[in-house]
Amino acid sequence: MCLKPLNRIRKTLGFRLIVWYSGLFILSTLALFGTAYILLSSSLERRDREAIQSKLKEYAAEYQLSGMAATERKIAFENSQMGKALFFVRVAGPDNTTLVFNLPKHWNDFDVEQLEKSSVSATTQWIQVPAKDDDDDVLEIASLQLPDGGLLQVGTSTEGREDVLERFGNTFAGVIVPVVVIGLAGGAFLAFRALRPLRSLTTSLQSIVATGNLAARVPVEDTGDELDELSTLFNGLLDKIGLLITGMQDSLDNVAHDLRTPMTRLHGIAEMALQSEEKEDLLREALVTCIEESERILAMVNTLMDISEAETGAMHLDLHQVNVLELIENVVELYRYVAEDKEIAISISVPPELSIPADRNRMLQVLANLLDNAIKYTPSGARVDLAASSDRHHVAIPLSDTGIGIPPEELAKFWDRLYRGDKSRSQRGLGLGLSLVKAIVQAHRGRVEVFSESGCGARFVLHLPVQTPA
Ligand code: ADP
Repeated sequence: MCLKPLNRIRKTLGFRLIVWYSGLFILSTLALFGTAYILLSSSLERRDREAIQSKLKEYAAEYQLSGMAATERKIAFENSQMGKALFFVRVAGPDNTTLVFNLPKHWNDFDVEQLEKSSVSATTQWIQVPAKDDDDDVLEIASLQLPDGGLLQVGTSTEGREDVLERFGNTFAGVIVPVVVIGLAGGAFLAFRALRPLRSLTTSLQSIVATGNLAARVPVEDTGDELDELSTLFNGLLDKIGLLITGMQDSLDNVAHDLRTPMTRLHGIAEMALQSEEKEDLLREALVTCIEESERILAMVNTLMDISEAETGAMHLDLHQVNVLELIENVVELYRYVAEDKEIAISISVPPELSIPADRNRMLQVLANLLDNAIKYTPSGARVDLAASSDRHHVAIPLSDTGIGIPPEELAKFWDRLYRGDKSRSQRGLGLGLSLVKAIVQAHRGRVEVFSESGCGARFVLHLPVQTPA
């Protein structure tokens, strides 16, 4: 039971960061000391061996030039000069019996008698003679075969370098405890600093979850690091969610508002028809009006659902290569009589070979909505132009009219669901056509632009990819 909080701490990112930081710090310090120890040890060994080798050559030269007696004198002289002679020297006859022997007094515990028993070949380079008292020190000896068959051996104790290495080891042992403490403290400090933005993110999230207040924001410290970027993204996400929720609330309000009028009318007509004792054909007329109203409501609900499907990516698109000219001609054909009625001339300028991967019916819906608006909001005797062109990535389909145009203050709003311009109230419509156009075009990975000024007509341009959208 008591282990539960410990287990929880062990799983935290902060704990893991501390372990990683301090673990790496301590390990690299250990590695540094280890490497320094090895380098120091090998360089001390090399220095000792070079000294032994050079002494060995010196005595060999003396022996060959001046003989045994001179060598003994040299040893005695060096002993008296240095006080504490640094080298062990042994000259042996061809049968390995000792002829000359010099072992400094403080190295007496080395078992040098064994040298007489061991045979030394010309290739044996280094002999290690251990101390009798189990000390770590050894006497390191180099041997040289003399021309008269004898053997010259010179050596020195490793005690000097062992002392240096031991001091080095002791220093390290004294340093490792502060290193561990510094490692842990540094790890804790770094983890605390690194996780600070995450903690404020968590605090903001907790306050949002607890209060449902989407206005809370994570503080951004402008350090430009990844966590700062995360905080900025998170705030951006909150902005977007806020906008979406406001948009949804507005849409719901609009839908409720727009449904209330036809529903009230429907209710009124049915009630009046029931209360009146009129003739059958008047009742029929009331029923026809009811059907028309309910169709309008149904169309609104269906279009709203289509828009939601397209916007959320749930709309199924039956993608095929569709010829753009054929598509436009089909739509124009549908509106031919309406346009003729209003004496509006429609021109088409589309290269016959242009095609796009698209859902034919949905694209017909898009173009039909745009053409319907162009005819609706253009006075009699004006014109509507449809064209198409392509570059490497997109096909552009502009549709321009010479109608009433869109005032600049309405340009930002008229893509919204159920939005209807002031000047368009006299025309039939639900205020959903452009929302549907935008949603379907975006579902095709395309985009739609509008250029317009009040009184100067409107120009809508569809940009659709020439490659099948992923
Ligand atoms: P509806 O046409 O049913 O009102 P839409 O979503 O198709 O709804 O259009 C929204 C608004 O955009 C219209 O009410 C109108 O004010 C404006 N609009 C759309 N197309 C045009 C156009 N070609 N010329 C001028 N205004 C337009």
